[in-house]
Amino acid sequence: MTGPLYGLVEAGGTKFMLGIATGKDDICETVRIPTTTPAETIGAMVDWFAARGPLVGLGVASFGPLDLDPGSPSFGSITRTPKPHWSNADLVGPLRAALDCPVGIDTDVNGAALAEYLWGAAQGQRIALYFTIGTGIGGGAVIDGQPIRGLSHPEMGHVRVSRHPDDLDFAGICPFHGDCLEGLASGPAIMARWGKSLSDLPVDHPGHAIIAHYLAQLVTSMQAIFEPGKIVLGGGVTSTLGLIERVRTEATRLGGDYFRSNAEAIVSLPSLGDKSGLLGALALAMRAGPRSTS
Ligand code: ZN
Repeated sequence: MTGPLYGLVEAGGTKFMLGIATGKDDICETVRIPTTTPAETIGAMVDWFAARGPLVGLGVASFGPLDLDPGSPSFGSITRTPKPHWSNADLVGPLRAALDCPVGIDTDVNGAALAEYLWGAAQGQRIALYFTIGTGIGGGAVIDGQPIRGLSHPEMGHVRVSRHPDDLDFAGICPFHGDCLEGLASGPAIMARWGKSLSDLPVDHPGHAIIAHYLAQLVTSMQAIFEPGKIVLGGGVTSTLGLIERVRTEATRLGGDYFRSNAEAIVSLPSLGDKSGLLGALALAMRAGPRSTS
């Protein structure tokens, strides 16, 4: 291991993955710590990184929602979350103070979008989108190499979709919107209807076409808004055998041959696989600078 050391944090609701790297092909050490309370988890992070020498930058790719407004006094904090103890938990402040290095932070999905843009399936695309379809549905977008943020980070998993005709009775599980995309197509929404994950349902079960219909609407909405060069679909639900092909076919049908972007060509699985989280943190660490964290 040679060269300056970057610290990587992939912050999730059940575990934090930490890593040390000198570059994308050299993640040389990782450890998993449980997400308990902010004091415990952040304390364990500080101890682990402090024992590994000075860092030139630390990247945090985190579950949200996050305060990413550079002018906000609570910049770098989790905002309101149902996760006990973590509402208003400051992630950036304690890490920066204890480790004395620049800290870059963004959502896990913006980080993954950035990593897929820099090193993966979306390399070189002016507009690259990344979605995770799993416990929840979240989306990140990179435009001209920059993750997008508005007043806050995007919440693309909560777009509205129209119902599949064979799925009119299910109310949806989003606590805020009921039958938004996350309320209809996330892993828990699938479990709530059919008692199994999508990959455990028989191949001829109607759930496959229903979920593909919703994800295809996400694709066509994103085509309409962005005309993106690549839409990367990650997460546990998306790894269901045959789903990505169904989504491409359905999105092509729904799109009506209208968009310049072609769903068959632009919809992709992640090429960084389960490393997209840590590589997203690496990309954020490499971009962290004194001015971007103030
Ligand atoms: Zn929602």
